[in-house]
Amino acid sequence: MAVGVLALQGSFNEHIAALRRIGARGVEIRKAEQLQNVTSLIIPGGESTTMAKLAELNNLFPALREFVKMGKPVWGTCAGLIFLADRATGQKIGGQELIGGLDCTVHRNFFGSQIQSFEAELLVPEIVVKEGGPPSFRAVFIRAPAILEVGPEVEVLADVSYPSDKNVSQEPEDAEVPKKAIVAVRQRNILATAFHPELTADTRWHSYFLKMTAEVDNEASSSIIIPYGG
Ligand code: GLN
Repeated sequence: MAVGVLALQGSFNEHIAALRRIGARGVEIRKAEQLQNVTSLIIPGGESTTMAKLAELNNLFPALREFVKMGKPVWGTCAGLIFLADRATGQKIGGQELIGGLDCTVHRNFFGSQIQSFEAELLVPEIVVKEGGPPSFRAVFIRAPAILEVGPEVEVLADVSYPSDKNVSQEPEDAEVPKKAIVAVRQRNILATAFHPELTADTRWHSYFLKMTAEVDNEASSSIIIPYGG
């Protein structure tokens, strides 16, 4: 069971290392055909405009969209979350191509610029509780996005009360900035987090994603039809 990690830019090495720590194999994905060798895909954090440009250059968008539509597990962290959102707003979003599939509006750089990056202790959602460990996890937010609104099929897994001293970027359409920002969601095969679990020693999110991957592997093997006499 191999987990693909989109390796165009950003923290793909860190994701592969986190997978290794829990005994799983992460495979770097740079070309569309490489997606055929993996059951699931992680889209790392980084810089979503750069990532989008590189994906376009490598003609990856059609294959990435197909991968999501096929119901294969996909996890986007930070820039990866922006990439997976159906709608994006916030600073300098113009012209950026997205994969889409996740019914939400994401606000890029919601918490401000690079120096306003922060860490917060978040409550462990139900799904991660099953992995054991402490009741909270350390979430690292680096020029992170936040999710402003979600569609009916999206389950909110975690939110953060952002520090009041953060210079939260305000745009006219965000006149009412929420006090709590949504930072982790799941919609069927799509998992998305605004923070970076790959930069901490806590591997529970990776373990959870491996379970999503295993479910798909099991479904695929149980749906093989063995013909009569075969
Ligand atoms: N702010 C970045 C972007 O818009 C995302 C930051 C991250 O992935 N750590 O792409």
